Amino acid sequence: MISIDQTAAKPDFAVIGGGLVGRLVAWQLAGAGHGVALYERGDESGAQSAAWVAAAMLAPLAEATSAEPLVVELGAASLARWPDLLAALPEAVFFQRNGTLVVWHGADRAEAPLFERRLRANAPAALLDGGFLKLAGAQLTQAEPALGSRFAQGWLLPHEGQLDNRQALKALAAGLAARGVQTHWNTPVDALPDARWIIDCRGLGGKPAWPALRGIRGEVARVHAPGIGLTRPVRLLHPRYPLYIAPKQNDLYVIGATEVEGEDMSPVSVRSALELLSAAFAVHPGFGEARILELNSQCRPTLPDHRPAIVWDGARIMRVNGLYRHGFMIAPEVADSACALADALAGGTVRDAASFDDFRRHARWSELLHGAFETATA
Ligand SMILES: Cc1cc2nc3c(=O)[nH]c(=O)nc-3n(C[C@H](O)[C@H](O)[C@H](O)COP(=O)(O)OP(=O)(O)OC[C@H]3O[C@@H](n4cnc5c(N)ncnc54)[C@H](O)[C@@H]3O)c2cc1C
Repeated sequence: MISIDQTAAKPDFAVIGGGLVGRLVAWQLAGAGHGVALYERGDESGAQSAAWVAAAMLAPLAEATSAEPLVVELGAASLARWPDLLAALPEAVFFQRNGTLVVWHGADRAEAPLFERRLRANAPAALLDGGFLKLAGAQLTQAEPALGSRFAQGWLLPHEGQLDNRQALKALAAGLAARGVQTHWNTPVDALPDARWIIDCRGLGGKPAWPALRGIRGEVARVHAPGIGLTRPVRLLHPRYPLYIAPKQNDLYVIGATEVEGEDMSPVSVRSALELLSAAFAVHPGFGEARILELNSQCRPTLPDHRPAIVWDGARIMRVNGLYRHGFMIAPEVADSACALADALAGGTVRDAASFDDFRRHARWSELLHGAFETATA
């Protein structure tokens, strides 16, 4: 453990954890004029975060097949917010809103009606309206020429997006510097830093203070595959290992992801590597000549109800966690809610259980907010 330099000016907020949420929250609070310090156990790249390994797909409609309605709605609202947010950062970040394509092999066609039924049952009407298009034969080839005539049917979800996670982390680090945030990289923190308010954004690292958190392991491959030319993330329905292939810039593809209960941060297993890579090869044989840049694993920070939560302890500490497999998809709205509560704490509008209740009643996403004086998720 590195000791914290207490000589720097005492900030209004100390944000612990500089992964996705911590960077966003610190950057926004600094932009609102607060003095902010950020403590991250890893380096500036964010390589120790789940955000570093993520595919960063922004797919609220596709995720509606399994996600809570709250998460889907947070995702839809956040997707609309990302372009402005990224435009305010000092470095460019690849962002695309060119849809998601869902396909399946003939042998797995039983998966398709199940996926459609779940999606239609869970998705808000506004997302479905023009957002879910059935494609067959030539329509599919036209939508995604790289796939040729390999798949007979598919669905195009034209409004979904994705971004480059590592560029986003880097641009946010530059944004923190530009806004004068005191950044403490390579600084693991388990005791409370000296600040008026603490915001704990440690992801799974916050488990000691939030025992209900658990990790759900995800494994991905990053490959370089020139000449394939997929133009949007492709999801492959499969009974055992539903897979996605997310094309980033410069012929980089993120192929993922397994979903395994447990906080196992060990390297990718041979089984998972075989499943991920052979499924990609089955989507496009060009992946046979791809170069494997990286096989990586991380754990998604998850609460029992699979929903994100912002918890105020009734005193100096706020915790933001449980973004599970939807961190990039929902981060703008979750970070906004956290910053609104932080502002209310700093301004004295929220000071006890009654004023917190009142704040929550008027909050845009009241379901996100919890007091630790309640026991629901803490
Ligand atoms: C394989 C995989 C694929 C994913 N794909 C997607 C996707 O396509 N779309 C999507 O929306 N989401 C995706 N996610 C989910 C997303 O990555 C997470 O929801 C998101 O990163 C959670 O953000 P966070 O800031 O809470 O946690 P993290 O990003 O993990 O950040 C937590 C930070 O806290 C730091 N930390 C921990 N303990 C300490 C300590 N004691 N002191 C200081 N710092 C500490 C860590 O080093 C880390 O940087 C994926 C995740 C995985 C693992």
